Amino acid sequence: MGLRQILLLGDPALRRVAEEIHQIDDSVRALAEDMIQTMLEAPGVGLAAPQVGVPLRLITVDLDDIQGAIVNPRVVRASKEQEADLEACLSIPEVQGLVRRPSSVVVKGFDLEGRHLVIKAEGLAARCLQHEIDHLDGVLYLDRVSDPKVKVFHPVPANEGDEVVYESELVPVEEVRRRFEEQYAMRAPA
Ligand code: ZN
Repeated sequence: MGLRQILLLGDPALRRVAEEIHQIDDSVRALAEDMIQTMLEAPGVGLAAPQVGVPLRLITVDLDDIQGAIVNPRVVRASKEQEADLEACLSIPEVQGLVRRPSSVVVKGFDLEGRHLVIKAEGLAARCLQHEIDHLDGVLYLDRVSDPKVKVFHPVPANEGDEVVYESELVPVEEVRRRFEEQYAMRAPA
């Protein structure tokens, strides 16, 4: 199929709890292939199937230590130690928020051939895996921000041909949600 459309905040499909994959077949592999293409094209370092409107427990990541798809991923161990860092999400474009999460995790799942995976991750990889697994439970990082305001980026008008420059403003999370919900209502068929 190729590139898939990434759903945006406000779309109720992002809030559903995704289902376990019981059989890793060609349709799952084709979906993973599409998700990897979509993620790289975006570009992003992670994508979860619900973000392309498929309610299955499948994520793809593009990290230094691990690239590709993980079927039925779950966090089996998380460090007590936590770290706060800025996160962004392909479903919430041009927004960044500070999220506190365990700084290292162990994730189990399966690859596309059905082999067991055990991934020990820290830093960005740990954060990315937790963020993507959250999507499978209908949770978005905005639900977890530790600061009531998040950064919203706007392109600054520039002369044609100039590199696009962004400036950011701090916006309350609730306001960001409201804006996306309004945009979704405008896009959705009546
Ligand atoms: Zn996301």
